[in-house]
Amino acid sequence: MTHTELIDRFGRRHDYLRISLTERCNLRCVYCMPAEGIMLRPREQFMRTDEVLAIARIFTDMGVKKIRLTGGEPLVRKDAAHIIRELGRLSVEMAITTNGVLVDEYIDVFEEAGLRSVNVSLDSLRPERMRAISRRDPFARTMANIRLLQDRGFHVKVNMVVMRGVNDDEVTDLMAWSRNEPVHVRFIEFMPFDGNRWDWSKGVSGEEILARATERFGATGYERLTDRPNDTARNYRLVDGQGTFAVISSVTNPFCDTCNRIRLTADGKLKNCLFGRHETDLLSALRSGADIKELIIGSVLNKKAVRNGMDSFEQLADPAQHGANRSMVAIGG
Ligand code: SAM
Ligand code: SF4
Repeated sequence: MTHTELIDRFGRRHDYLRISLTERCNLRCVYCMPAEGIMLRPREQFMRTDEVLAIARIFTDMGVKKIRLTGGEPLVRKDAAHIIRELGRLSVEMAITTNGVLVDEYIDVFEEAGLRSVNVSLDSLRPERMRAISRRDPFARTMANIRLLQDRGFHVKVNMVVMRGVNDDEVTDLMAWSRNEPVHVRFIEFMPFDGNRWDWSKGVSGEEILARATERFGATGYERLTDRPNDTARNYRLVDGQGTFAVISSVTNPFCDTCNRIRLTADGKLKNCLFGRHETDLLSALRSGADIKELIIGSVLNKKAVRNGMDSFEQLADPAQHGANRSMVAIGG
């Protein structure tokens, strides 16, 4: 098998797998989790440790070069340390997306496994606001852990989901933070998922975020950087900044033409697009002894050109379309 089998009908090579380790989370962020939480299902429905590792190995055989662990909160999974160590033995670049609360308990494991890139969600620099957004109280630990990661030389990106009237007034404060510290802040447009009461009046576009940068720092106060291939973000830096900031415009300006991602949910379903309801059940096939490579190839070949076929903003905004998808916490962001 060669990686050429993970090339889709539009010539996009899929070498980046995001694995959700769990649907559970120690926070309840308003943009991600429905207020009532999500229904917990029996353990057997989720991938066991050996199954996560077996499926990950198959993907690396098929050309996957990068694996990002996500969730839910990946670090609440009891065997997370073991999984990270074992994945560290594969020849892949490893990364993780976390709310940061438990990072101090795992930082040695990250180092041992060669995981050097950590994305931390932080939606506000104000503790009480973080409490309102996450319906828990993560600020002190998350912030301390961002500092810990920086001190130990990790590449740290901070993800902020920008919501109008909730935290949008802090956007330029986070940019200012990237002036004095080697932090890479990414502003993410609020995306629609099942149960998150999405409507675009709560969203703030990447364009508006940049307009606010111009207002505060001046048009020459920040500069555009060269994006890496397959980057979903448009990257910038304050002219005297140690860090950077970026906008991720999945709603107003999708980046599907260079998409190289596929996602494995915690219950072992392959999703070829974040916005698609279509799933391929790899876990059941693996348990029945089937060769899952054919299923993986089929899923990649089924991938649509843009946002699972929702190429217009109107289609994306239609509740009938996104209501049929999972909530973000169950997809794995
Ligand atoms: N628990 C981890 C965390 O919060 O980073 C990992 C999982 S979380 C689902 C992954 C990313 O998805 C986070 O950066 C989060 O901010 C983002 N996210 C969740 N819901 C979103 C939404 N409706 N729109 C945009 N981004 C969202
Ligand atoms: Fe949990 Fe992350 Fe979703 Fe927040 S964004 S509820 S931390 S999975």
